Amino acid sequence: MTLDRLWFDPAKIYIDGAWRDPDARGRLALEDPSTGAAIGEIAAGQAVDIDAAVAAARGALSGEWGKATAAERGRILARIGQLVQARVDDLALIEATDVGKPLKQARADALALARYMEFYGGAADKVMGETIPYLDGYTVYTLREPHGVTGHIVPWNYPMQIIGRSVGAALAMGNACVLKPAEEACLTALAFAALAEEAGLPKGALNVVPGLGEEAGAALSGHPGVNHISFTGSVGVGSLVQAAAARNVVPVTLELGGKSPQVVFDDADLDAALPFLVNAGIQNAGQTCSASSRILVHRSREAEVLERMAERYRSLRVGPAIADLDVGPLISARQKEIVTGFLDLAGDLEVAAQGEIAGNAPAGGHYVAPHLLAQVTPDHRLAKDEIFGPVQVVIPFDDEDEAVAIANGTDYGLVASVWSRDGGRQMRLAKALHAGQVFVNNYGAGGGVELPFGGVGKSGHGREKGFEALYGFSSLKTVAAYHG
Ligand code: NAD
Repeated sequence: MTLDRLWFDPAKIYIDGAWRDPDARGRLALEDPSTGAAIGEIAAGQAVDIDAAVAAARGALSGEWGKATAAERGRILARIGQLVQARVDDLALIEATDVGKPLKQARADALALARYMEFYGGAADKVMGETIPYLDGYTVYTLREPHGVTGHIVPWNYPMQIIGRSVGAALAMGNACVLKPAEEACLTALAFAALAEEAGLPKGALNVVPGLGEEAGAALSGHPGVNHISFTGSVGVGSLVQAAAARNVVPVTLELGGKSPQVVFDDADLDAALPFLVNAGIQNAGQTCSASSRILVHRSREAEVLERMAERYRSLRVGPAIADLDVGPLISARQKEIVTGFLDLAGDLEVAAQGEIAGNAPAGGHYVAPHLLAQVTPDHRLAKDEIFGPVQVVIPFDDEDEAVAIANGTDYGLVASVWSRDGGRQMRLAKALHAGQVFVNNYGAGGGVELPFGGVGKSGHGREKGFEALYGFSSLKTVAAYHG
């Protein structure tokens, strides 16, 4: 899809149901990561635009949106989901062009966005409070109320999925949202706003202000008119956002990075494990918060696992998003520099296998061949730091205690998995692993819109996805009525 065929203007911002130029009329160049070519411009929203967006959201809360019943909100969300579903192929093409994601993977994101709207549309009128037995003469109950204006700061790696899970849940609970997509990838956020408008979402309920993180993002996270911030991105920026929100005593949800392990025991079903072991590391070129970048293997099966993973690695093809190969480009020249910098640290480590960059991949694209590294010690930086590229390390262990110690030996705790046929071990590991999600004999559970997601440690706090997100995007009020 060329940008002139879009159903929205990519250089505008969307505030109070209107498509407008940013106040300062600044623009940022838009790049296709598959070619490195400039493909258009987006708006560089500033603090003044965030002010306008927050004011519009506040207005929506006292207007048509604030008065809508839970069932009406749900119906609108469900309609948005249907419109997203009808545009899945267009959205996939936009995302593939903007983010460099192979088409099939971009399509899966668009389908997930539709599914989030379906899920949160259905859930909107099913969030209930409780009655609490109390002293004689009292009736006590709880109400779940929206926070008010919610800010959503989204990264470039999975814009549609993250918008679905955070904006979807926030709208379901009756909040009004200000969305600041990443400067590298904001097209599907604008596309989503246009579809929400078409679905009848009242003006001001969703406002989208693209712009630089340090400008629009910082303005949103420190804005005194915002009542809750959902941030997904790096640890460094997450802590800045939390500090800015703390000045206004505003709650934040932080969805940050990871160094997620898959732990393969001697009794694992390797045929079942193998696709998960590799795919969880190379999906979206490894630029996935929940990427499984560490494979921990019982020493007795290390050689076998390495050889089978290496075989798959050698078959991996890297190329432009539109070619829909196994792996696309990284998002930017900067990201490529970071990932190749990590690979330089490999030094004497054994490169067990590499994928191959297609001969006809455009020279300006940000391609890195997937790397599988063997014999990595748990204290090596490649085994501890988030690389955010198509690089996996294989680390041997001798027993269950050691496996748990290595798995829990990073600052992160987002996702983990255990591959074993032993039921007791599965349960022990599920408890012992330091992570927000643990998978037993699978990894990722197909995305799992319904499954609460979030981290411990430096992977963040708070939960999105599933029903749990609806609690995060609301505050609980206790009502105690004395009637004698
Ligand atoms: P990033 O932190 O650089 O940017 C994320 C967002 O924050 C962008 O919209 C950016 O514009 C904005 N931002 C940047 N500086 C800001 C500031 N000073 N104030 C407010 N906002 C600012 O992260 P990234 O490079 O876009 O994404 C990669 C990171 O995100 C990785 O660490 C990855 O693990 C993490 N991530 C986590 C999840 C999750 O759900 N846990 C999902 C996707 C990505």
